[in-house]
Amino acid sequence: MKPPISASVSQEQFLTILSREEALARFEAALFPRDLVAEDRALADALGLVLAKDVVAAVDVPPFDRSNVDGFAVRSADLATAGESAPVSVVLNSETIACGTPPLITVNQGTATPIATGGPIPRGADAVVMVEHTQPAGHDAIEIRRAVAPGQFVSYAGSDIARGEVVLREGTLIGSRETGMLAACGVARISVVRKPRVAIVSTGDELIQPGQPLRPAGIFDTNGAIVAAAVAENGGDAHFLGAFPDDEEKLEGVMREALASSDMLILSGGTSKGEGDVSHRIVARLGQPGIIAHGVALKPGKPLCLAVCEGKPVVILPGFPTSAMFTFHDMIVPVLRRLASLPQRSDARVTAKVPVRIASELGRTEFVMVSLVEGDDGLIAYPTGKGSGAITSFSQADGFLKIDALAEQMPAGTATDVTLFTPHVRVPDLVIVGSHCTGLDLVTEPLVRRGMSVRSISVGSLGGLSAARRGECDLAPIHLLDEKTNTYNAPFLVDGLELVPGYRRMQGIVFRSGDRRFEGRSADEAVQAALNDPSCLMVNRNQGAGTRILIDRLLGGARPDGYWNQPRSHNAVAAAVAQNRADWGMTIAPVASAAGLGFIPVAEEHYDFALVTSRKERPAVHAFLDALASADVRKSLEQAGFQPA
Ligand code: AMP
Ligand code: MG
Repeated sequence: MKPPISASVSQEQFLTILSREEALARFEAALFPRDLVAEDRALADALGLVLAKDVVAAVDVPPFDRSNVDGFAVRSADLATAGESAPVSVVLNSETIACGTPPLITVNQGTATPIATGGPIPRGADAVVMVEHTQPAGHDAIEIRRAVAPGQFVSYAGSDIARGEVVLREGTLIGSRETGMLAACGVARISVVRKPRVAIVSTGDELIQPGQPLRPAGIFDTNGAIVAAAVAENGGDAHFLGAFPDDEEKLEGVMREALASSDMLILSGGTSKGEGDVSHRIVARLGQPGIIAHGVALKPGKPLCLAVCEGKPVVILPGFPTSAMFTFHDMIVPVLRRLASLPQRSDARVTAKVPVRIASELGRTEFVMVSLVEGDDGLIAYPTGKGSGAITSFSQADGFLKIDALAEQMPAGTATDVTLFTPHVRVPDLVIVGSHCTGLDLVTEPLVRRGMSVRSISVGSLGGLSAARRGECDLAPIHLLDEKTNTYNAPFLVDGLELVPGYRRMQGIVFRSGDRRFEGRSADEAVQAALNDPSCLMVNRNQGAGTRILIDRLLGGARPDGYWNQPRSHNAVAAAVAQNRADWGMTIAPVASAAGLGFIPVAEEHYDFALVTSRKERPAVHAFLDALASADVRKSLEQAGFQPA
C-alpha cells in the first residue's frame, strides 16, 4: 500500500539537475556502442526494418541481353546502307521471341527474328528495330528504311545490377523501392536489425484504461497509448503492459519481469521525488549502472529519469502527457532510433513570429507548442499550451518552438524556428481566435465537411480581440458585457473590426436536480436560500468572465463559502456541482443539460464574432458567414440549446 499522506510528506529534492545535452550524452555513453541484434526475415515481412548486412547480387539483372521494344532482332551490319530511298529487306526467321521464351534460331546475315519487349536477344543479333520502323515485304520478309547502331534497344545482361555488386548497404531502411530491388535480384530472405522490444508501463492509482468506466477521481491512461504509438513510430516493437497502482512491491515485480523480456523499459508517472512516487526507487535497484539522470533542465519534463540497468535503457517519463511526449521525443527517440539502427529524425522546420510575449523559466530548455496561422507578413506561431497537464495542445499544435535555457522570455514579435510535427505546414483556411464554445463546432461543421480546414484557438474574448486587432485571425468570438451600457460586445470593437451577430447562450444557476434549496425557485429566491444555509457551497467564476459579473450582481456583495473557488470555464462549474464539490454555480444551459443538472435561467449572454474587415473577402470567411446564417446550422444550434441571433 501507498503510505498515507501525513504532515511529514517527504519531498526529496532534485539536487543534481543536468542540462538536456549533458543528460543525453551520459545516457548515450552508457548504451553505445553496442552490438546490433540481427534476425532473418522474409522479404514481405521486412518493410520498415533496417538491413543488418550488405546484400550482394547473386545474379545479373537483367540476367540476359533483352529487347526494350516490340520489333525485330537484327544484325546492325545488315542495315548499314539502309535509308529512306534505299530500303533493305531481310528475311524473317521462323520463330517469334516472346517474354520468357528462350530463342532457338541464330540470326544469320540477311535475317531478322520478331521479338517482344523483354524477350531475350537471339544469338547473332546485336540490335532491335522497332516494329513501327518496318514494313512487311511479302509473307516472310520486312523492309527497313533506316540504319541502326549496334546495341540499339538492347539492355545488356548485368547492366542494371551486376552479379557481385552490393545492391543495398547495411543500415538501409527497407521501403517499397528497396523491396523491389531485392526481389529483382531474387532475394527472398534478408538479415534485418531486430526491432528493439520495448515494454511500456503506466503507473498511478488514478489510471483507468480507455473503454473502462471512469470512476470518481479517476483519469484515463493517456501515456500508455501515446508512448506505445510513439515507440512504434520510431522503430520499436511496442508492448504495452497496462497501468499499475503505485504499490512498490507489485510494481517492482512487473518491472523486473518486463525488463527481463524486453530490450527497453519505459514507465510513466511516479517520477517526482514525493512519497507516493515509487518507480524511481525501484529503478535504482534494477541493475548496473542504474540511474544516469534524474532531473533534467527541460520544461516540460524536469522529473525525467534515465537509467541503464544491465545494459538496457530504463526510462521514467513524467506523468503529465505533454511532458511525457516532449521528453520522449527530445531525449528518448534519439536513443530508440539508434537501438533500432534507424537514421535520426530530420524534422521539418519553418520560421514564424510569436505574437505574444512568452515567459520562460531561467535555466530550463523550454518547449512551447504552437499553432501556425498566416499573418500579413508571414507565419505566426500561437502558443497552444494550457499547462503541462493539457493534452489538447497536441491536437491543436502544428509544432513547437524552443526557448533557450538561458532566456527568461521570448519577446512578442520574435522570429523563431518552429519544428513541425508533420513534414509540411498546413496553414488553415479559417482562423478563429478567442473564446471557445461548443456551439462554434456546429457552425464550422459545414466548412469542414467541404474540405476546409478550420483552426480554433482558445484564448478568451480579450485575447481574441487583440489577435483580431493584429490581423492574426479571421474572426474572434467574444462575449464581453460592457457594464456601463449593459450591452454585449459592440462597445469593445475598434477600427478594422466589425460585429457579426452570433447566438445567445442562456446563463443560469445550476444545481443537482432535486435540491430543495433551488428546485422550482426563481434565481433570486434560489440565491437567498443558498445564502441562508451556511452549509451550502458555491462555485464562482474567474474575474473578467461575463458570468462572474452576473454572479456578483446576484450575490449583491455577499461572499458565501466557495466564492474563492474560481474556475475558468463553464464546464468546470458544471463538473464541480455534478461531483458534489459545490452545490451551485452559474453556467450556460447547454453545459448544464449535458451534465444532467437542474437549471434556473438568469440572463442571456451574447456570443458574437468580431470579424477582421480586411479578411472579409476570403472564401472561408464567406463560407463561415453563410453557415452561420443557414437554416441547418440555426436548427442544430437551437437543438443544442443556443438561440441564434
Ligand atoms: P506523477 O508523475 O505520477 O506524479 O503524475 C503527474 C500527473 O500526471 C498526475 O496528474 C497524474 O494523474 C498524471 N498522469 C500520470 N500518468 C498518467 C497517464 N498514464 N495518463 C494520463 N495522465 C497521467
Ligand atoms: Mg502518479
